[in-house]
Amino acid sequence: MTEQTLPIAIIGAGPVGLAAAAHLIERGENPIVFEAGESVGANIRNWQHVRLFSPWEFTVDQAAVRLLEAQGWQMPPLKDLPTGRDLIERYMLPFAEIESVRGHIQLSAKVVAISRENIDKMKDTGRETAPFVLHVVYGDGREDFIQARAVIDASGTWDTPNPLGSGGLPAIGEKRQADHIFYGIPDVLDTYRERYANKRVLVVGSGHSAINALLELARLKEDAPDTRIYWAMRGKNLKQVYGGEADDALPARGQLGTRIKGYVDAQDIQIVSPFRVRELRTTDQGIAVIGETPNGQETVYVDEIITATGSRPDLAMLREMRLDLDPSLESTRALGPMIDPNIHSCGTVRPHGEAELRQPEKDFYIVGMKSYGRAPTFLLATGYEQVRSVVAALVGDWEAARDVQLNLPETGVCSSDSGDGGSCCGTGVNQAVPLGASLINLTNIPVLSNVLQPIALQVAARDCGCEDSCCSDGVKSTTCGCDTACCN
Ligand SMILES: Cc1cc2nc3c(=O)[nH]c(=O)nc-3n(C[C@H](O)[C@H](O)[C@H](O)COP(=O)(O)OP(=O)(O)OC[C@H]3O[C@@H](n4cnc5c(N)ncnc54)[C@H](O)[C@@H]3O)c2cc1C
Repeated sequence: MTEQTLPIAIIGAGPVGLAAAAHLIERGENPIVFEAGESVGANIRNWQHVRLFSPWEFTVDQAAVRLLEAQGWQMPPLKDLPTGRDLIERYMLPFAEIESVRGHIQLSAKVVAISRENIDKMKDTGRETAPFVLHVVYGDGREDFIQARAVIDASGTWDTPNPLGSGGLPAIGEKRQADHIFYGIPDVLDTYRERYANKRVLVVGSGHSAINALLELARLKEDAPDTRIYWAMRGKNLKQVYGGEADDALPARGQLGTRIKGYVDAQDIQIVSPFRVRELRTTDQGIAVIGETPNGQETVYVDEIITATGSRPDLAMLREMRLDLDPSLESTRALGPMIDPNIHSCGTVRPHGEAELRQPEKDFYIVGMKSYGRAPTFLLATGYEQVRSVVAALVGDWEAARDVQLNLPETGVCSSDSGDGGSCCGTGVNQAVPLGASLINLTNIPVLSNVLQPIALQVAARDCGCEDSCCSDGVKSTTCGCDTACCN
């Protein structure tokens, strides 16, 4: 095969990898998709019980839909919210089973490394024209080197969760407690019911995954009232954790915050914050979780820990690729300023495509969840537009590659540390959350040495007086709420 007739390789048959395949097939290309799992959507299977906050209209790719509809497939109701299982069974599996698609997907095929044929990372000569070589390990133990003319890495980040310890390091003793730590969102109402019912459970993290786990635990507590739920997080800005609530342009995403706030206010969930996990120890009273707090080291005793502290990209397999990544997020560099939670948390991500995703390694692209690195705000609609643009570029349709369009629903809450003091927007969400109602009641939490004191997270309510120029990336917003971080 000549370089031009080699396939384009896609790593990962998640929703974004499959979308890339759909666009390539539509353009008459011959993609080859490598999926480490036994089925498409293997990562989503891990959280299939969770309902997405995006309705169907934002969770399907248009090229995949066109191919599906040609087979008589019916789009689910646009405004309904799929669960992860729905997304796999009603969209991804039917797509993967289309006759013209099936042959392009290899299951139980894990890519462990990528390079250029006979050219290591240091060598320049002939690099740009040399085929890529993917080292693939199959489920039955076979290994192979597969050539490709371009590579689209859509392998996500779910497989490499962040550790429990703060500072990005595992907590002391974290590995020893592995049997009592779940990374992700366990199905506590079904598969893992026995594991969590009437137990003391600590959830660590402050994003949507943590909130999803907490909401399910709160429902479990209704049937198993002795379940004790503790929620530890590093920060103390609960307003930011609750998100835009009613102002979120995706109502289901906003409701996550509203519902969790209800359980916190009712003290069904006890917040331990700010708390930076340092060490885990086995004791007669259960697992001692020792953390740093403003009052010094404190200890919470629990039976189980759920870690929802985000995930990070697996860069090991890309060791021979010439990459340009954002130094803090490990995202594609150009995306960094648009998605950096240190800068803002708007749902408004500037439209981006091939140009922003381009790497020094010609014809190699990181897309989907992995393109965001460690940043938590990725949405499928973003990934679908990314691969539409990247595929257009790979087949030489530069006009379509440059014509990126993305209209993302905003989160309804915006923080900006841009330092100009006035870059946050307002739409009437101009009061800080009444955190007095959420004062942490730690008196029931058994502690080792010090008695934890309720930590007042008082934020003065005031008018922000913000206008509508929300984010430091200059994207105008009409739904971002004022945030304490940017309106003082
Ligand atoms: C609980 C939860 C809820 C979410 N809700 C929403 C929502 O409502 N709306 C929204 O827009 N987004 C949502 N997201 C975010 C995002 O859309 C999803 O994480 C989505 O699955 C990302 O798609 P992806 O294709 O980039 O990666 P993934 O779905 O993670 O797919 C990556 C695939 O690559 C495979 N793989 C990994 N490594 C290799 C390898 N080395 N070789 C071969 N294959 C490999 C994996 O097995 C997997 O199948 C949610 C995320 C989570 C975790």
